[in-house]
Amino acid sequence: MAAEDCRQVLASDTGSEDSRKITQKAHLRLARSLHQLGDLEEASSELDEFRSLNRGPVDPELSLRVQILQDHATRNLEADAPYTRPMRYEVRVTGELRPLIIDEEVSSALCCVKPPEIPAEIFLMHVVNKYHDRIMQLRPWTCWSCSSKAVNMIHTPASYLHLSVPMIIDYVRPVCAHGERCGQQARRFAEGMARAAGTYYET
Ligand SMILES: [Zn+2]
Repeated sequence: MAAEDCRQVLASDTGSEDSRKITQKAHLRLARSLHQLGDLEEASSELDEFRSLNRGPVDPELSLRVQILQDHATRNLEADAPYTRPMRYEVRVTGELRPLIIDEEVSSALCCVKPPEIPAEIFLMHVVNKYHDRIMQLRPWTCWSCSSKAVNMIHTPASYLHLSVPMIIDYVRPVCAHGERCGQQARRFAEGMARAAGTYYET
């Protein structure tokens, strides 16, 4: 339902129980539609109306609220630091002598010792996903554990975005189709390293 239709429904509330339910739904739909239009403030206040009629928070409202908060965080980050800095994405594949070096750009707001957590996580995931296929296709890789043909890679990106040349170092293990054996082992390594340094991703 478009924002205008929702507003008409809200204006025609007669105060009856049926009308109250329709009004409540209209607030939620209006909130969704305002969120899509990028009006985060108005979307939040429609959610407040929905919550007050519902006498407490319920799921459809909560998940939309989380999305709005994340959008707020990203928007604030862009407003605080609209500039980007050159950075280095260094991919260290197990068994390779030299790392692959990829030039990238990063928002200057993330270049500090304690960057905002959610946007920093999203950025690491974005860089890993962006280059995963290209790295896979670079050459035929062999499994780090059993030397069979690799069909996937397990990433462990560690953030060094606070350095004078901001960097992400990604420790990568190519894995074969034997997921239970070589893949599980690679995941255990990655999880151990992620606890020590960054986070690990499987695309
Ligand atoms: Zn293997």
